[in-house]
Formats: sequence, structure tokens, C-alpha cells
Amino acid sequence: MQTMAERLRGGGFTALHEDARWQLAAGGRHFVIRGGSSLIAFVVGQEAPAVSGFRLVGAHTDSPGLRVKPKPALAGDGLRRLAVEVYGGPILATFADRDLGLAGRVGVRDGDGVALRLVRFAGPLLRLPNLAIHMNREVNDKGLKFDRQTELPLLLGGAAADADAEVGFRALLAAAAGVETGDVLSWELNVFDAQNGAFWGADREFIASRQIDNLASCHAGMTALLEAGPAATTNVCAFFDHEEVGSESAAGAGGSFVVDVLQRISASLAGDGEAHCCALAKSFFISADMAHAWHPNFPAAYEPGHRVAVNAGPVIKTNASQRYSTGADGAARFILLCEKAGVPHQHYAHRADLGCGSTIGPLVAARLGVASVDVGTPMWAMHSARESAGVLDQGYLVAALAAAFEA
Ligand SMILES: [Zn+2]
Repeated sequence: MQTMAERLRGGGFTALHEDARWQLAAGGRHFVIRGGSSLIAFVVGQEAPAVSGFRLVGAHTDSPGLRVKPKPALAGDGLRRLAVEVYGGPILATFADRDLGLAGRVGVRDGDGVALRLVRFAGPLLRLPNLAIHMNREVNDKGLKFDRQTELPLLLGGAAADADAEVGFRALLAAAAGVETGDVLSWELNVFDAQNGAFWGADREFIASRQIDNLASCHAGMTALLEAGPAATTNVCAFFDHEEVGSESAAGAGGSFVVDVLQRISASLAGDGEAHCCALAKSFFISADMAHAWHPNFPAAYEPGHRVAVNAGPVIKTNASQRYSTGADGAARFILLCEKAGVPHQHYAHRADLGCGSTIGPLVAARLGVASVDVGTPMWAMHSARESAGVLDQGYLVAALAAAFEA
């Protein structure tokens, strides 16, 4: 969120706050943050929204993984461990034997009130060592499994027998947050793969990194918005937390954030309720989230007629049960945007006999009542601690989204 805000400020955007009145004018570049983890950025169009509508791109900011519990410190047998809770649907086995970092925000005492401080232990801090195969003889036949309660606590360090593990953990956070240990009140901390992203493959045509789902789409949307020139339409990027756990939160896509922001844009530009309804009826929402690339080792997992390849362009995702918001209108509009941008596109449908994932597209489309499409960049190993994708697709998606903002 901090990185996004810095990039936006560098691009001439100014921060708005939800608890103050907004004064907007054509060409204005602004962003607003809710809950510290969801952000909506917009450029006010040259025409009123009632005339040309909103062009929206949405993505989610969160990734599945492990979150530190409120009272996480475990000590015994000369070791300190951290208790964690599973957030969303990570592939748990991929967190084993990896260099794990820790980052998030810490609530601290600030005079008579509270403040939130960002902390980040970028290097290897934590680890989930595997049990040796000599004690887990069937691991290669039955798969690598961890009990979520008893087998996931992460090793943090050695411990003196008389040391208080809770105080020790709070002291670690206090030092990172630049406060006294007694002033650490609360935290939201996420465990991540500490290894940097890397290009791989014979021609370095692939990339591996943590959190490609869905920071890649956030990056693409924001880049397109920053690079877009003056437009008749009001262009909006909406980035939401909590997608991996269902989006029903104050800051999530199921909440009122995007509804409130669009209403306030209309209201600030002297539009009444009727004008806002006209604006929504003329709007188009592109929900950008990652897609499942064809994996040749597992052909039975895919719908044979809808294989999508990495480095072959954005994917239009369709599901008759509305797990994706795509309909004929949205798909056709996005195909035209790809043509305009000169990039290829692909179509994905999940196997009919497998449960399909979902994303923010259907939620936002339902909340706003706008025309929409679900698209995304193809990737492998979605929800692994270290995911991979093709190097060409990010540029393709940026170009297609930029075309939307120029429409
Ligand atoms: Zn996603």
C-alpha cells in the first residue's frame, strides 16, 4: 500500500480522506485508502461521469499464506516458535524449507491514541523444516501434509529456559517499529517467501516470485492509470484487500468502498442521484486476477478446449455460474481493447467437473450494476509460496488496460 501511494504521488496524484469533503475538478488525480490495505485511485475525466461513465480496473492486494496469531509465542525444548493461522488457501507444503520473512503492521501506543507502523523482516527470519523422509516414508506417495494447528508453528530461534517468549517477540517487533516494547499493542503480520524474484528458463522467458497473484494485476492496473493521458471518461483503479477470504469486509470488494468512492466522485462534480445512475449505466469494469496456465505434466486437470499458455496474452475468464462476471458484452469489449493495443488474447474455462475459483469481478459488478469482464495473466502454481509466470504477459496486460483508459 505504501509503495502504491508513493508511486501515485510521483505521478501527480494527491491523497483524499474519507472523513473530509472532496473538491474535485476535471483532470484531478487522486487516491483514497480504506483500512490501510485497500486503495482506489482515479483521474477525473474531461466529461462528467453522467456523460461518459467510469472506466474501472479492479484487482486484489492480498495473497494467501500464514498470519501470526495475537499470542503467537511458543517456547520449549530450547526453541522458540511462532503460532500462525492459515489465511485463504495457500499450498501449505510450499512454505516448508523456504527462507521465510515477516511483514505487516503493528498497532502502537502514540500519546493517548494509537498509530500503525509498518514493519518488514526482509531476510530469512522464520522456517518450517520438513520432517526427514526417514520419519515420513510415504511423503512422496501420499503428498506433503501439515496439520494446521500442530504442525505449522514456525521456528523463530533458540530460547533460554527462563526467557519469556511473548516478551521476546514483542521486543523484536518493537525494535522493528521503533517503539518501546510496552507500546506494542497489536499486529497483522504476514509470512512470505524471502527469496527475491528471478527470471528463469533457457531464454529467461519466465519469472518466479512470491505473490504474483495478485500483485501483478495491481501493478498492471496502476501502471496503465499512471501512463494514461487526459481522457473524457473518469478512470478508476480499485485495489481490494481480503479477496482470498471472501471479500466481505469494510475494505473488501464486498464492502461499500468502491460504491462510496464513485458516489462521491459524482456528487463532487455536481451530479445528483439520477446522474450517478446514468454514469454507472455507461461504465465498464475490468476485474484483473491471475489465470491458470496450461501445465503439460497435468493434462487431466484442464478443460481441453480452453488451454491457455504463458507469454500468449491476457486471458478472458468465463464461467456460466457467474464465478466470473464475464458475459458476451464484456468479453467482446475486452477483445476490442486487446486488438486496439495490438496484443493477443486467450479464453479460459475451468473443467466442468471441477469447482471453479472466483474473484472480485462478480462482487463488484453486482454492487455497482455495471457491465464487466474477468481477465487475467496466465501463471503456474497459483497460491504457492513462490509462483511463476511468463515475462511477456505483464506488458500485454498493461497495454490492454491502458487502451481501456483511453477509450
Ligand atoms: Zn487472485
